[in-house]
Amino acid sequence: MSMPTNAKCVLVLGGGGFIGGHLAKRLFEGGHWVRVVDIKAHEYFSPEEMCNEFVLGDLRDEATVARALFAPRQSAETDADNSFDEVYQLAADMGGAAYIFTGENDANVMHNSALINLHVASYATRFHVKKVFYSSSACMYPSHNQEDPDNPNCEERSAYPANPDSEYGWEKLFSERLYLSFHRNYGLNVRVARFHNIFGPQGTWKGGKEKAPAALCRKVAEAQEGDAIEIWGDGSQTRSFLYVDECVEAVLRLMASDFTGPVNIGSEEMVTIHDLAARVIALSGKRLSITHLHGEAFQAKYGFRCPVGVRGRNSHNALFKEKVGWTVSAPLQDGLSKTYAWVHERVLAER
Ligand code: NAD
Repeated sequence: MSMPTNAKCVLVLGGGGFIGGHLAKRLFEGGHWVRVVDIKAHEYFSPEEMCNEFVLGDLRDEATVARALFAPRQSAETDADNSFDEVYQLAADMGGAAYIFTGENDANVMHNSALINLHVASYATRFHVKKVFYSSSACMYPSHNQEDPDNPNCEERSAYPANPDSEYGWEKLFSERLYLSFHRNYGLNVRVARFHNIFGPQGTWKGGKEKAPAALCRKVAEAQEGDAIEIWGDGSQTRSFLYVDECVEAVLRLMASDFTGPVNIGSEEMVTIHDLAARVIALSGKRLSITHLHGEAFQAKYGFRCPVGVRGRNSHNALFKEKVGWTVSAPLQDGLSKTYAWVHERVLAER
């Protein structure tokens, strides 16, 4: 393999997914040599659009991780070894609230994601990977700091004493600590970020693993004039949502910085879920109403507890700004209008 001298040899684990796909494409378009490994193909990007090599493989399997992390030999002008310059670890067993908060998938979420991270931390160290990025989640923050929808606390230093509200959050906390311990004990050069609700086109928008923005866009796009849109919970729960391009930019800037983290990557523009739905409805130009489903009525309809998560959550970006010298800027509305347009197209294409 021959690469331009300023190009890096990069591995994106979980690049068949939403954020990993966008990240791999950006790195590939930036002239880097990119290998993607995922258990499934990307639904919307062809391999030629996003990487030099797309490998289908199950990262719970140790031998697959060992092969994935063994880089192709680079040219003499760059590096003569088989170490990746950068590994981005985004593979995880995850989904939206309906996947994470019902309790039905707890064992798989913990077992599958922990196995992947245990293998990746170990082989990244053995193969002398130069830098590893790990995507943690805001779900690791203690639920007792997120009971007030108007004043949630998700400052990085508020993480302990730990009390995440889901097993998904506990696994993320465990794996953060795993990578940080490999950093301390074996000198693995890691960057750890806690993503807060990333959204955008070319992501899951149906099937049960989609998250709130995509789910609302789909419901609105499918609705007929005069219909009611169903929101899970009373709608007053708050969240912030970061557009995927901003997330990718933040990841690349964190990787280029000297800061190990953990650090938040999210938006500070907090909205209620009701407001989010109202914005999507306004974008559609349709006349639709909103109904709130929770409690016993939800249980009766779906057969499981309403999976709303914490009452409030917002990113806190002071640390990222201080350590990386950059902050996310695009307003929610911009990303929402691009996402609605994309989901609307998908809905029309499936009719
Ligand atoms: P995603 O589900 O679209 O991507 C994850 C990818 O991992 C998928 O393509 C999946 O096939 C792959 N994967 C799962 N198990 C695998 C296995 N055993 N072997 C190989 N590949 C496997 O999710 P995403 O939204 O792109 O999230 C990427 C990362 O960011 C995840 O680690 C997620 O936990 C984290 N995160 C995302 C958000 C968000 O809002 N999207 C928020 C916080 C954290």
